[in-house]
Amino acid sequence: MTQAISFRLDGQRALVTAGAQGIGRAITEALLAQGAQVHVCDIDTAALKDVQEAFPQVTATLTDISNEAQVAEMFAGLQQRWGGLDILVNNAGIAGPTAAIEDTTLAEWQQTIDVNLTGTFLCTRSAVPLMKGKGGSIVNISSAAGRLGFPLRSPYSASKFGVIGLTETWAMELGPQGIRVNAILPGIVEGPRQDRVLSAKAKSYGITLEQMRTRALERVSMRTTVTAHDIAAQIVFICSKAGAKISGQSLSVDGNVETLVQ
Ligand code: NAD
Repeated sequence: MTQAISFRLDGQRALVTAGAQGIGRAITEALLAQGAQVHVCDIDTAALKDVQEAFPQVTATLTDISNEAQVAEMFAGLQQRWGGLDILVNNAGIAGPTAAIEDTTLAEWQQTIDVNLTGTFLCTRSAVPLMKGKGGSIVNISSAAGRLGFPLRSPYSASKFGVIGLTETWAMELGPQGIRVNAILPGIVEGPRQDRVLSAKAKSYGITLEQMRTRALERVSMRTTVTAHDIAAQIVFICSKAGAKISGQSLSVDGNVETLVQ
């Protein structure tokens, strides 16, 4: 008999870090649309207010994911409210500096690693006890820069390659407990962040933003950017019953970025 394929997430309790704006906001909206309960955290008060005004059922905390005490407090609240967690999307991440290695400061390196890698570690460490017994799905947001070298973006690339290592390691450690761990690697996602990143690169090469955009797309097989919705759709798929046997995988959603050398 043919089984129906379902992407529904009814009753699932999800935490989306940096879930108030950008890609995280699209993930929050997609999870809600499939029936999940969603908690978001961010360091941007206005963005948190905005998402709660649009979706009053969303709960939110002002939490810096690189701060151990703040992360512990957020998870204590989730434990109290929900008694467990089914989905963790480690989405929060910063772009870090656009600079040659010899011009990159230790403070810039440290900050990028603190948010992108240590923040992912802290949230996952606190999420695992809430998933134990029932299982769950952890999705780490890496980047095309997590599988390809990315000139002028050393800390970012190091952190996003690191996220892949954590994904494969945690999938092995947590698999026996029914906890799945996967990574999504977005390509060039349309939005303000990408505009900032491309502007910084255009400046360092002494070319216009439009020239920079054309250069970047020439390195993508499908000659396309992707949208936050494209990313959110894959997260829904991975977290749903349809993705129930997927773990330890790194899925690129990027039109096939061939190289980040621009
Ligand atoms: P964005 O800059 O638009 O939004 C990032 C959000 O993270 C903001 O709301 C910000 O306030 C929040 N944030 C920053 N530091 C935080 C911290 N310490 N604790 C909690 N929240 C914090 O970024 P985005 O484009 O939506 O990116 C989301 C994720 O996708 C990131 O991990 C990023 O590296 C990854 N990514 C983005 C692209 C892209 O083209 N935009 C491409 C590949 C990967």
